Amino acid sequence: MCGIVGYTGPQQAGKILLEGLHLLEYRGYDSAGIAVLKDDKLKVIKKEGKVARLEEQLKKEDSLGNCGIAHTRWATHGKPSDANAHPHTGCDSDFAVIHNGIIENYAELKARLQKNGHYFTSETDTEVIAHMVEEAYQGDLYVAVRSVAQQLVGAYAIAVVSIHEPDKIVAVRQETPLLIGLGNKEKILASDPSALVKYTKKYWRLENGEMAVITPESAEAFVIASGEKIDKKIQEIDWDIDEAQRSGFDHYMRKEIDEQPEVIENTLRGRFAKDGTISLPEFDDVAETLRQARKINIVACGTSYHAGLVGKYLLENLCSIPVEADIASEFRYRNPLMGDKDVVLVISQSGETADTLAAVRLAKQKGVPVIGIVNVVNSSIAAECDAVTYLHAGPEIGVASTKAYVSQLVLLMLMALYLAQLRNVEFDASEIVADIPKLSGYASELLQQEQKIIQVAELMKNKGNCFFIGRLLDYAVVLEGALKLKEISYIHAEAKAAGELKHGALALVEDGTPIVTAVTQDSIRDKMHSSIMEVKARGGSIILVTDKPEQAQDIADTLIPIPKVSSYLSPILSIIPLQLLSYHAAVLRGNNPDRPRNLAKSVTVE
Ligand code: GLU
Repeated sequence: MCGIVGYTGPQQAGKILLEGLHLLEYRGYDSAGIAVLKDDKLKVIKKEGKVARLEEQLKKEDSLGNCGIAHTRWATHGKPSDANAHPHTGCDSDFAVIHNGIIENYAELKARLQKNGHYFTSETDTEVIAHMVEEAYQGDLYVAVRSVAQQLVGAYAIAVVSIHEPDKIVAVRQETPLLIGLGNKEKILASDPSALVKYTKKYWRLENGEMAVITPESAEAFVIASGEKIDKKIQEIDWDIDEAQRSGFDHYMRKEIDEQPEVIENTLRGRFAKDGTISLPEFDDVAETLRQARKINIVACGTSYHAGLVGKYLLENLCSIPVEADIASEFRYRNPLMGDKDVVLVISQSGETADTLAAVRLAKQKGVPVIGIVNVVNSSIAAECDAVTYLHAGPEIGVASTKAYVSQLVLLMLMALYLAQLRNVEFDASEIVADIPKLSGYASELLQQEQKIIQVAELMKNKGNCFFIGRLLDYAVVLEGALKLKEISYIHAEAKAAGELKHGALALVEDGTPIVTAVTQDSIRDKMHSSIMEVKARGGSIILVTDKPEQAQDIADTLIPIPKVSSYLSPILSIIPLQLLSYHAAVLRGNNPDRPRNLAKSVTVE
């Protein structure tokens, strides 16, 4: 995920592009860059770090010109650095390219280009596009970019400028968002409406497989495959700038919940093949260690720890490897016994969590290899692990983690399949493999149930206390559901393994106590239904998330059906209604879910 913006018109492009980058910075902020055309020359200025650093640099350099492109990066291929920042150029500085997404076949394209004599200056996948356009150009930028787009595999929103056609931007969209703002005698393109709204409220949304050519006076859209011209429908933005940054949502948290279908696809992209083959080349160097590992110690904090509990279950069941899951602040002080052939797996959204970082260091001190699942590229934890795999979930701004958690679950499932393949563990993965491609669509369907969830939130908003119960993977999910509710609504929520209720917590259940439950695990469904009946008999009001609603009609006071998938995958779906529930309970109680009291996003202190 990153932010891209382009401008062509009578105004100074540099100023507008910079403004756009500031507005889009939430989408990526590890480096930023700008390319502006002036007097048949292309001026490219790029800087590692936040947009403010680029701004400082721009003050020192001349970036005048009326047409240009700019990018704020969220690195996927190559560390954040000046060289890896976009825009990228080919061997000569005739063409500049910005890109949001991943070019999956970049390695083979790069090898081909290098053979043809092209010289690369970055580690990114993106740079191949600049060299390909350079090679394909024969006097028409549209024709060159179209032929390049037909060779790219993966996800991309791309914008290209060239000194040969100095007031033109050619843009392409496949999977990642791209809007074309249709101003009067000026055109502006951007990843989302926040960067358009100041200049125009009229825009086109490019769809997959479409491209556009813009100049100050004109905008045209085409189907990439056929070259056929498209009569695009003009859409109108009815938000102000502030709302637009949240894509019209009231809070970042709600927006991030909405991004989850896209995030699931981003996490899978390039890693999961339809036949179930998993590609995680970032683990190549530790593959032998993982193949021989005798035990895995998962270490994390908060929501990431809850993802780790799902991971424990998946790795034990699918890879037949013993797994311990630990809270990092405990692990680092309890002198964990780890021996030869142990591996530590840390999970962190920010990659800066102090306790998790301390756990990495402790493990390394003991000579234990450490692998990581991290969202923020080149964060401290990522840098200190022996190998790291990234979520590709994009920046998460809401303090209460949502999309990073779902992405962690997806990546843990891929790791479980990868390890099983590596260790030659035989099991029938056909249901999982068939269901994985459906997850994103199912997540979108679940978001449609919002009205129903708001009604549940209404019921819960004045309660001071509630329970979340589940078993097996559903227990891991309700731990996360209860945490979500607590951290933003301030309703006290206690998650219990359902079988534990009668060992104490049942004493607190009285008439009308909300009991939120998830029931998706076939092996324990009947037992779970019995536990629910026990609380119901004591007055509990049952809110039941289930993939078999037909079996729970008489048990639940409120039924929240979710699509049926392999029980190993169901946490990825069953958490979504629980996230919505906590969000709406918080809003109905007048809290700002993006700024929960006493909490911070990235816990960089002990
Ligand atoms: N894959 C590209 C890179 O790593 C683009 C990442 C982005 O979307 O910011 O540079």
